[in-house]
Amino acid sequence: MSISERYAEVKKRADEAAKRSGRNPEDIKLIAVTKTHPASEINEAIDAGATDIGENRVQEVLEKYEDVKPVKWHLIGHLQTNKVRQIIDKVVMIHSVDSLKLAHEIDKRAKAHGIVMDILIEINSAMEETKSGISADDLKQLCEEITAQCDSVRICGLMCIPPMAAEPEDARPYFKEAAALFSEMKSWDLPKDRFNPTELSMGMSGDFEVAIEEGSTIVRVGSSIFGPRNYR
Ligand SMILES: *Cc1c(COP(=O)(O)O)cnc(C)c1O
Repeated sequence: MSISERYAEVKKRADEAAKRSGRNPEDIKLIAVTKTHPASEINEAIDAGATDIGENRVQEVLEKYEDVKPVKWHLIGHLQTNKVRQIIDKVVMIHSVDSLKLAHEIDKRAKAHGIVMDILIEINSAMEETKSGISADDLKQLCEEITAQCDSVRICGLMCIPPMAAEPEDARPYFKEAAALFSEMKSWDLPKDRFNPTELSMGMSGDFEVAIEEGSTIVRVGSSIFGPRNYR
């Protein structure tokens, strides 16, 4: 299958999962995750209808940026503070904020560009040591600190990556937990211009349908669209 056929297939499966769970397919954004794939392949996905792409390394955004057709870029991987400056004017959303320090750096660079950067807080629900993300218990405090101290970032919701699993169903409890936290977040009384939790970024190739059933608003799908990755 070609990239455009696979993109259409994933989109169809996402739409069906939405309908099955009584949701409007238009409320779910499909991000095509393009790490390790060249600009030519990304452009194929864009021609097939992709409006949003996700990279997890700053270096890859910079390498491909000029050669990729106009599209919305998302930074979905762990971000080091010293790299924020390089992507602040290139991405529409940073999905992986897990510290006040990183939020401060994004705030500073966004301000310098005269923009407000949309961010998601990454939670690590299983508290796996190898992964970034904060614990659910620390979420409220981090949101309070960021909204009190940073006026050029807007917290738009949560991102989560459940532990690697053999079966899509294994991810469901983690998705349920993230969805519950997301819904709790909506009741927090924080300044609306800095805190507007509308997005729940969860679900990848192996489990995006389950994620949609559990309330995901953004799914990040790579290998089901582009095929397996060859890491350099
Ligand atoms: C690579 C990656 C994905 C996509 O993974 P697939 O299993 O290939 O769909 C999604 N989210 C993040 C943060 C990633 O790094």
